[in-house]
Amino acid sequence: MAIKAYGAFAADKPLEAMDITRRAVGAHDVQIEIAYCGVCHSDLHTVRSEWAGTLFPCVPGHEIVGRVSAVGGSVSRFKEGDVVGVGCMVDSCKHCHSCDEGLEQFCENGFVGTYNGPTEDAPGHTLGGYSQQIVVNDGFVLKISHPEEQLAAVAPLLCAGITTWSPLRHWNVGPGKKVGIVGIGGLGHMGVKLAHALGAHVVAFTTSEAKRQDALDLGADEVVVSRNEGEMAAHANSFDFILNTVSVSHSLDAFTALLKRDGTLCLVGVPEHAHPSPDVSALIFKRRSIAGSLIGGIAETQEMLDFCAEHGIVSDIEMIQIQEIETAYERMQKSDVKYRFVIDSASLAKG
Ligand code: NAP
Ligand code: ZN
Repeated sequence: MAIKAYGAFAADKPLEAMDITRRAVGAHDVQIEIAYCGVCHSDLHTVRSEWAGTLFPCVPGHEIVGRVSAVGGSVSRFKEGDVVGVGCMVDSCKHCHSCDEGLEQFCENGFVGTYNGPTEDAPGHTLGGYSQQIVVNDGFVLKISHPEEQLAAVAPLLCAGITTWSPLRHWNVGPGKKVGIVGIGGLGHMGVKLAHALGAHVVAFTTSEAKRQDALDLGADEVVVSRNEGEMAAHANSFDFILNTVSVSHSLDAFTALLKRDGTLCLVGVPEHAHPSPDVSALIFKRRSIAGSLIGGIAETQEMLDFCAEHGIVSDIEMIQIQEIETAYERMQKSDVKYRFVIDSASLAKG
């Protein structure tokens, strides 16, 4: 059955309304009527072909919250009417070492992305959440227990939430740890909220003077405007962990210099152009690490959603109609979003 979606037919074309089809519900499938979908910077990188390998037509969207409308005969964890989420993955091989450990994002045979991933479904690659409905293997569907009125603000947890939660947990962020979050956008604002909720001392790094007060309100203990060298120097050699969410190429040296001996700078931003090669002596002389992290596994995504429901954590959002997506992208490129755009999927019906 045809459903309405929004996507692009080429990297240099604006997003437009299109009809797409979803597969019939298989034995292990969950069919979801999408209520909200967050707008991630990865959507923009992909649809504009800033990373290699975008397949067109491209329907982005991997921060999906909706309601189950049908389940296959072998599905027991979900039933019609349940409120559920789908994040960045819709499938993986389910038998490699990484899948066995619940780290499907590192599937050794390649996970299937919610968009731009390989599939037998038409048109031969996955189409994401800027659409009215999606059909997903039940192992990649998350339970949502936040109250109804928070559901739009829950959507960004499915990518921005888990992408910051996973490294914060992996590097044991908690009480007694000094943690930096660089770039206060969609990912970064969730990083601040989550690191604060985990009990760390949180320092937000922003290039936007105007976000200073906001960052404190989000839960930061201190804010540094990273363009100000004096403010940066005051934190030299003091961080256990810094999570860098910046979406553009920049020098990492200003941040590695802030790490303690044995500290880690973890990158999650995936800029179009590579960062300049870092100063290796700054790493060698203090045994500092530069690391990376990719979204998170299904089990830890559920853990994060449950933690957020328990602690009343959601994203700070600005709701948009799908017809406003190009303006939203322009504003995201200017770091002018507080702090995540979320599409009201009901607007898709307008075409
Ligand atoms: P976003 O909302 O646009 O936030 C990015 C932030 O980076 C901006 O708000 C801004 O923060 C900062 N920034 C932007 N331009 C800058 C510049 N020229 N110099 C310094 N800082 C700048 O994007 P997002 O959705 O959070 O995504 C961030 C990145 O993570 C993207 O590259 C995205 O593709 C990637 N991502 C990775 C994963 C993963 O699994 N690793 C998952 C999702 C997304 P300030 O205004 O505070 O400076
Ligand atoms: Zn994302």
